[in-house]
Amino acid sequence: MSLLWIKNGRVIDPASQRDKVGDVFIAAGKFVKSLTAAQKKSAQIIDAKGLVVCPGLVDIHVHFREPGQTHKETILTGSQAAAAGGFTTVVCMPNTSPVVDNAGTVALIKSLAAAAPVHVYPTGCITVGMKGQSLAPHGSLQKAGIVALTDDGLCVQSNELMHRAVEYAKMFDLTILDHCQDDSMTDKAVMNEGVMSTRLGLKGWPHAAEDIIVARNIILSKYTGAHIHMQHVTSAHSVELMRRAKKDGINVTAEATPHHIALTEQALGTYDTNFKMNPPLRTEADRRAIIAGLRDGTLDCIGTDHAPHAPEEKDREFDYAPNGIIGLETALPVCLDVLVKKNKFKLPHVIDLMTRKAANILKLPAGTLTPGAVADVCIFDPAETWIYDTYAAFSKSINSPWNKQKLTGRVKTTIVSGKIVYQNGKMV
Ligand SMILES: [Zn+2]
Ligand SMILES: [Zn+2]
Repeated sequence: MSLLWIKNGRVIDPASQRDKVGDVFIAAGKFVKSLTAAQKKSAQIIDAKGLVVCPGLVDIHVHFREPGQTHKETILTGSQAAAAGGFTTVVCMPNTSPVVDNAGTVALIKSLAAAAPVHVYPTGCITVGMKGQSLAPHGSLQKAGIVALTDDGLCVQSNELMHRAVEYAKMFDLTILDHCQDDSMTDKAVMNEGVMSTRLGLKGWPHAAEDIIVARNIILSKYTGAHIHMQHVTSAHSVELMRRAKKDGINVTAEATPHHIALTEQALGTYDTNFKMNPPLRTEADRRAIIAGLRDGTLDCIGTDHAPHAPEEKDREFDYAPNGIIGLETALPVCLDVLVKKNKFKLPHVIDLMTRKAANILKLPAGTLTPGAVADVCIFDPAETWIYDTYAAFSKSINSPWNKQKLTGRVKTTIVSGKIVYQNGKMV
């Protein structure tokens, strides 16, 4: 039986309201209350003095590009990036090639995931081919092992089709994750619509195109009782819609990305495509509203939307470059900087947003250090400063706005099911 004894760390477990210097014990892949004297003698010891010991981080929004675009990322390299960033559970979006609208592709992903260093869960498409025209076979996708339904990257435009989708999802007790975008308002748009897009001469993506779909989803959730989760909320108005919906007891949840809380459209002045994403970076007022939403619980969790693209694809004219950035290896330090340092969130609150609250949205067995739970752990130094270098990092892609930046907060050890998978810069 493999035994681990993590000693003298600041143990933060929001699920049990624990925040105290102490020890964490692991036996046979699960947390245990303590070890016997004999077990302590044979246990592997990790000295966590001066470090934070928390549940492994959970990200319900990543793109690992396999099958089909393995030059950008694979399930293995994406999982290694996750482990290096302190993540132990990730949920993959289905916009691979082929897309995940059939049980065979789910089975393929699950077999690749079995060899990954972290827990990787697949999602399935809402519609066949993500074309927004007819429903994918939700029942057989669920039997094959998906944990949610989404057409992420795209948004189902037909309200009637979305209505039927949420009815089915409810029947199968699946959550719908929606990328909220009214396509009729965002044709060829590449950045937030406003003064800045006019100044740069780029086609704008109005926040109203997000707000309209967030409102549509709130209405459909209220109408059907189905759980709908809004991915990457970026607009102040959408945050306000969510606030009201939650007050009214409607079954909706939402996430925010590290980049939308850290950056605004002001970063686009140099036309650097590492600031191009969908939905786009918005205004300072929007950024502040997202942070306020995370503070008061209107927004439920952090999701990275880790979106790898090859350099030759990303390094093009702004209009033609693909959307998205990688984020798994920078999410924790970025959230520590923006939320804890600059906005005075308590550290356990930020850990909650990145662990238990994310896991709860999809009822995943993760996000706590409670005895009996699967022993997934992130151990990090909240004070260590380091230079993030995309070439030295684990993701296969390098499209990050934080490349060569000094970051504070560094993951030291990542433990998955009681096994050390990452330690001091290396996969184990
Ligand atoms: Zn999306
Ligand atoms: Zn996405």
